[in-house]
Amino acid sequence: MSDCIFCRIIAGEIPGKKIYEDDELLAFHDVTPQAPVHFLVIPKRHIKNIMELESGDSSLIGRLLYRAQALAAELGCGEKGARFVINCKSDGGQTVDHLHCHVLGGRPLDWPPG
Ligand code: 5GP
Ligand code: ZN
Repeated sequence: MSDCIFCRIIAGEIPGKKIYEDDELLAFHDVTPQAPVHFLVIPKRHIKNIMELESGDSSLIGRLLYRAQALAAELGCGEKGARFVINCKSDGGQTVDHLHCHVLGGRPLDWPPG
């Protein structure tokens, strides 16, 4: 989708600090990091949010989460862990309407969210 900022990063139309890419997934550093490690893992297919998933997408999402934890470990979060967050729509705090999993680590994080 040409008006989707993450689709434009996938297409290389705007820069993104890429960490990982394959035929169905992309991971890149968040432009406004909220922790020493803060990156996003997205499907290349434009899926608006987690509530748009269909049953056939379950293996894709499994691979997305697998990749999120593998990259978190590679970036130094293996021992102390990290937070894996998927915001959804307005109450969930989603600001970019292309499904993405945040991975935040490198410092202790508060809970619950405000
Ligand atoms: P949301 O609030 O939708 O869960 O998270 C969207 C995230 O995308 C935010 O953390 C925001 O900093 C990040 N973001 C928005 N625009 C860009 C961009 O152009 N490049 C990158 N790398 N991250 C972005
Ligand atoms: Zn998109």
